[in-house]
Amino acid sequence: MIADLRKEGKSMRTFDASKVREEFPALAQTVKGKPLVYLDNAATTQKPLQVIDAMSRYYKLDNANIHRGVHELSERATESYEAVREKVKRFINAADAREIVFVRGTTEGINLVAQTYGKSNLRQGDEILISGLEHHSNIVPWQMLCGEKGTNLKVAPINDDGEILLVEYQKLLTERTKLVALGHVSNALGTVNPIGAMISMAHKAGIPVLVDGAQAMAHTRVDVRELDADFYVFSGHKMFGPTGIGILYGKEEFLNAMPPYQGGGDMIKSVSFEKTVYNDLPYKFEAGTPNIAGTIGLGAAVDYLSKFQIEDVENHERAVLSYATDVLGSIEGVRLIGTAREKLGVVSFLLDDVHPHDIGTILNEEGIAIRTGHHCAQPVMLRFGIPATARASFAIYNTKEEVDALARGIQRVKEVFS
Ligand code: PMP
Repeated sequence: MIADLRKEGKSMRTFDASKVREEFPALAQTVKGKPLVYLDNAATTQKPLQVIDAMSRYYKLDNANIHRGVHELSERATESYEAVREKVKRFINAADAREIVFVRGTTEGINLVAQTYGKSNLRQGDEILISGLEHHSNIVPWQMLCGEKGTNLKVAPINDDGEILLVEYQKLLTERTKLVALGHVSNALGTVNPIGAMISMAHKAGIPVLVDGAQAMAHTRVDVRELDADFYVFSGHKMFGPTGIGILYGKEEFLNAMPPYQGGGDMIKSVSFEKTVYNDLPYKFEAGTPNIAGTIGLGAAVDYLSKFQIEDVENHERAVLSYATDVLGSIEGVRLIGTAREKLGVVSFLLDDVHPHDIGTILNEEGIAIRTGHHCAQPVMLRFGIPATARASFAIYNTKEEVDALARGIQRVKEVFS
């Protein structure tokens, strides 16, 4: 994928997306008789063979429940499962594997923090601060908590480019604020928030920060210790892994002080009718038989991503995004929604007064997969006074040729509606 030209006496590395594509079987198919152009990566990414094979190998040979078994298969399954915790720890540079909790995905990770940290630390009149860019997953769990505890949700507003207004954010960090929860990268607009700076502003006021990293992991470097995030959550399926598995990273001191989330097997040390002693980290938060195959698949996805220099991935995606912004922006009638200075992976747009759903339907006839709707970010749509957008979202394997196909597709939509 990376041709090291230094070997040939040249000084630059080049990133070859066409080689990357060969590892993703789904990308090689035709849809409606046309080569598939998959531009719905913010919803979920395609899976490389490495991930598919790792999951299939587990089911073919190692299938067993983990942790309590003494037999060979259970030992193998447990070893593969726990090895993923170490891989994830290294990948995000956590201090300890105990800080890596396996959850179903970003949504469950945020709900876990709301229902455990939130319930035990927040009181009536306290405030939780989020931003106007958040996905519903980083709004609704906090609203539910507010309903139960009498806490208030505050929202840092965004400007017309889709950037959080840092001056307003700073003003909203008060002695009443007890938790900040922010997206790293917006799924609706692609805005990359200056998350490190925003965390340090909150920390100066003594407030812990949860980061929703769902849209960041496959696209940019995430170092939880450099960011100094107190919690960082993400989903496997948006980083080339399977669905149903994700990660809650939490600083050990926070996770240790939190009560368990769900009760059941594996999260206990001992149980009697009189008294139950909870397990240590991270098992305290992992009740019941987990998603073993999914976890192993996530491990393979981490291995897959680790083959690349993340800077190469980011540079490639930035080039594709900037090309898409230019090409789509120059089509008459296209209005780009979300024009932040720092963006990754997403172009949201409208075309004249064509409903985004119709844009998506016509593009599908051309073999092009995009997403249309509110992208689980209705407050963002409300901010721009629109019900929906059409959204093309990119990953490591997308190319400028695919952007050209998208532009031709949009011309086709114009013809249909002219
Ligand atoms: N936050 C953001 C920014 C997202 O893009 C998504 C998925 N669209 C989520 C949270 C929720 O992720 P999941 O559905 O995998 O739990």
